[in-house]
Amino acid sequence: MTVPWWKQPGRVDRVRAQAIVVGAGVTGLSAAMHMERRGVRPIVLERQRVASGASGRNAGFLMRGVAESYAAACDSLGRELTQHAWRFTEDNLRALRELGVDHTPGFGERPSCLLALNDAEAHDLERSASLMAEDGFESPFITEGDDDAWKNASPLCGLVNPGDAVCDPQEVMALLASKLDAEIRPNAEVTAINASPDRIEVVTHDAVYEADLVLLCVNAWARTLSPQLARLVEPNRAQMLALDAPGAKLDMAYYANEGGEYIRAGEGGVVLVGGCRRFDAEAERTLADEATDPVQSGIEAFAERVLGRRYPVLRRWSGPMGFSPDGLPIVGRLSEVGGPDAPIHFCGGFTGHGMSMGHLTARDCVEHALDDRPTPWTISRFSGRTTG
Ligand SMILES: Cc1cc2nc3c(=O)[nH]c(=O)nc-3n(C[C@H](O)[C@H](O)[C@H](O)COP(=O)(O)OP(=O)(O)OC[C@H]3O[C@@H](n4cnc5c(N)ncnc54)[C@H](O)[C@@H]3O)c2cc1C
Repeated sequence: MTVPWWKQPGRVDRVRAQAIVVGAGVTGLSAAMHMERRGVRPIVLERQRVASGASGRNAGFLMRGVAESYAAACDSLGRELTQHAWRFTEDNLRALRELGVDHTPGFGERPSCLLALNDAEAHDLERSASLMAEDGFESPFITEGDDDAWKNASPLCGLVNPGDAVCDPQEVMALLASKLDAEIRPNAEVTAINASPDRIEVVTHDAVYEADLVLLCVNAWARTLSPQLARLVEPNRAQMLALDAPGAKLDMAYYANEGGEYIRAGEGGVVLVGGCRRFDAEAERTLADEATDPVQSGIEAFAERVLGRRYPVLRRWSGPMGFSPDGLPIVGRLSEVGGPDAPIHFCGGFTGHGMSMGHLTARDCVEHALDDRPTPWTISRFSGRTTG
């Protein structure tokens, strides 16, 4: 965003803050909450409104695990880190419940189920189920069910996460915001961060904030504020639609085609369904908010396969996700803005699972920033990386 002459630096407000959090999604709101618990008083700057990014546009799956299956994650990340990631998502849901998320109207206890629609995924889920059992996770492996997904899509098998839940993400964000003393400033897009060894300035169109600590919680927008993050966090658009499907029966929140598609029942006969990014993968690497034909028709076809018939579409929408190179969140100090010692930190890169990870990852980020506490999500695992 450009700045008109009338807002030249001499004329903007100067605001002093202990800490600045940029972004008011699940990560930014949670980071502000964890800071307040530590006695730090932040100001939250948000380019639009609370939950205007992915946190208010997602499918509301509060699901155990990350983007890959347990077996695939064990292969790519190692057993120990995979086990930690799965426990972490269970803990994240527990922490959200402790905040009262389970009393929001759109919350529901709802097992999720990874569905195998082909032999390769069936084999992967079978292997995942046995690894999870070995690692102490309750993970029923099923081969039948009696709802629409099992009747119509003829899955080969499914792996159930029995303790999962679903939510209305807008309600969850409103709850998190209501728990904060911190001021949340909407329409405050951060256009630059100027760092020198003795101070950091965070610039918006009408104010310059001077702070001792800055946390960037902008997920998919990471590249707009840091070239270092541009190499690590790739924006990927996710598209969804809502169907008027009063006759549909979906007992679980389903995740199919290795997470490429997801479908669940909402309130009042609505079914929520999304995915099919791979139908136009290149075009979907964008921050643009748009529902496009190739992806939307793919989602409709998937919904028809699962539900056994077409239902009228009530709403189509999209939202921006931030993908990390290994599918895990990224937490830590940015070395390329103001030098390696400048207290500017990032928390994001949730690869489509921020509702299941964001609240506690933000806690890890705050503890890392304030106490140098180690975290498995550390950005330093990518040190030396030059391309995204
Ligand atoms: C369609 C869709 C479905 C999804 N489904 C699920 C799901 O079911 N379960 C799940 O766990 N995850 C899901 N996700 C992913 C999840 O929504 C995200 O991982 C999570 O919301 C990320 O939270 P965040 O706070 O890091 O980012 P966001 O919610 O995107 O928040 C970032 C905020 O930063 C603000 N911002 C950006 N740049 C600036 C700037 N320069 N100055 C000030 N503010 C700025 C943005 O306006 C935005 O509000 C889905 C995502 C999408 C898009």
